[in-house]
Amino acid sequence: MSEVATATESAAAASQNTAHAASQNIEHFDVLIAGAGISGVGGAYHLTTQRPGTSFLVLEAQDSFGGTWLTHRYPGIRSDSDLYTFGYRFKPWTGKPIATAAEIRAYMGEVIDDNDLARHIRYRHRIVSARWSSADNRWTIEAVRTDTGETVRFTANFLWMCQGYYRHAEGYTPEWPGMESFKGRIVHPQTWPNDLDYAGKKVIVIGSGATAATLVPAIAPDCEHVTVLQRSPTYFIPGRNKIELADTLRELGVNEDWIHEIVRRKILFDQAAFTKRSMTEPEVVKQELLGGVRAFLGPDYDLEPHFTPSYRPWRQRIAFVPDGDLFKGIASGKASVVTDEIERFTESGILLKSGETLDADIIVTATGFNLNVLGDIDFSIDGRPLDFADTVTYRGMMFTGVPNMVWVFGYFRASWTLRADLVADFVCRLLGHMKQKGAVKVMPVLRPEDKDMQLFSWIDPENFNPGYLMRGMHLLPKRGDKPEWQHSQDYWSEKDQLPAIDLDDPAFAYG
Ligand SMILES: Cc1cc2nc3c(=O)[nH]c(=O)nc-3n(C[C@H](O)[C@H](O)[C@H](O)COP(=O)(O)OP(=O)(O)OC[C@H]3O[C@@H](n4cnc5c(N)ncnc54)[C@H](O)[C@@H]3O)c2cc1C
Repeated sequence: MSEVATATESAAAASQNTAHAASQNIEHFDVLIAGAGISGVGGAYHLTTQRPGTSFLVLEAQDSFGGTWLTHRYPGIRSDSDLYTFGYRFKPWTGKPIATAAEIRAYMGEVIDDNDLARHIRYRHRIVSARWSSADNRWTIEAVRTDTGETVRFTANFLWMCQGYYRHAEGYTPEWPGMESFKGRIVHPQTWPNDLDYAGKKVIVIGSGATAATLVPAIAPDCEHVTVLQRSPTYFIPGRNKIELADTLRELGVNEDWIHEIVRRKILFDQAAFTKRSMTEPEVVKQELLGGVRAFLGPDYDLEPHFTPSYRPWRQRIAFVPDGDLFKGIASGKASVVTDEIERFTESGILLKSGETLDADIIVTATGFNLNVLGDIDFSIDGRPLDFADTVTYRGMMFTGVPNMVWVFGYFRASWTLRADLVADFVCRLLGHMKQKGAVKVMPVLRPEDKDMQLFSWIDPENFNPGYLMRGMHLLPKRGDKPEWQHSQDYWSEKDQLPAIDLDDPAFAYG
């Protein structure tokens, strides 16, 4: 039996055993974790190892763990970060650096099994509301069981929000005129139908981000042709799906714990240098990235219309293309790129603004996500609805005026899990500090010196501006002009700053 199956089945059994009790009584936990993706499972691990004896529960809407790596089932689904840094700090990654969703889930399944975490996770529980009561100093969480429709309630001292950043049930598809007239199928990669037969078909993939870069090489060999239709070009980094340093250390018999740590450090060192160069010499970096693409497409391919973005490198996530597979598909003629805008859908495909038409049997809308602020949960504090846009973020982890809650939002430019591990250390330290102080409540508050601070949107669009964030920015907490009140997105400074946070700083109000 696979590791994934083992963890899934024991979790399902645990879920059934306790479901009846949960419907009868309101169970109480020290900590309630929302979501069993890479952040939530990591949080459960850190709690058991750093805060043994803490009672906790993970509630997950889906029927298994994995989050992103369970939801996305389109052909070719894989990471675009290396798994040495996307993997947890505490569990060595031993496979190829770019991993499939199945490999990532198997790795998470091992973490669950090795640490006996399944008994803490309840699947098919969608959290719908969370109400803080200052009289009781606790959260009441209401969840709907997706299998029975039953509503169940829990109380918790502390909420650890690991619900990710987008709505899992459906992806973002813009409305284009004439969509209803298209005679073929329109599919979003996030809800890829199991029965979709694309063999011998003409397929248009709208969008050229990481999803398209993964999907196109996976389906192109079977399709008649795949056309990538993009409004504007994206940066790609083609490279080999291997890390020579890791292979050498293995040949030398170095143990996997050491290899994991050394390779992480090397990758992070190289990424820091790359990010810095993207800021200080963007034109040189741009030419290097284009050179990588040209190496696959050949000197005669005109990179100008399709592969030369107008923005500076690193304003949006750069998709890694392992072994250049996307470009090999283009070079072979099985896939092609069109850079244009959609005028409207037609019965047989898409009419472009240039007047050109593209025929298709299937249109895939790789057009991104719907941002979801804190799991589409109705939050209230002492009966007042909570609008996160009215709060200021404490280092992208907590919110002014919101007690006993931390959320995990990872990095855009480095692996998400690097931050999930750092935030977990912070939560565990904070819980320990509260216990030591005898506090039952902690909440970030603006200090006297912060009162007149200018407030900005959560992320600076000049710094990072993907569509899903731009569409949802008005829903997100505000950012101030001091490091405490910003979500810096900089792993290299946060790795030192977060562990050094003074928990007795007046920015924390205890009760
Ligand atoms: C296709 C794709 C590829 C990506 N590749 C990378 C990559 O290579 N590197 C990288 O760093 N990042 C990548 N990301 C970003 C990625 O989402 C994160 O890295 C990471 O997997 C997020 O983990 P998470 O556990 O925080 O959230 P998620 O994976 O989003 O998991 C959240 C979980 O919470 C559950 N949940 C949400 N709301 C509720 C609720 N109300 N009640 C109960 N449960 C709820 C969801 O069902 C889900 O299982 C990728 C994203 C996508 C979509």
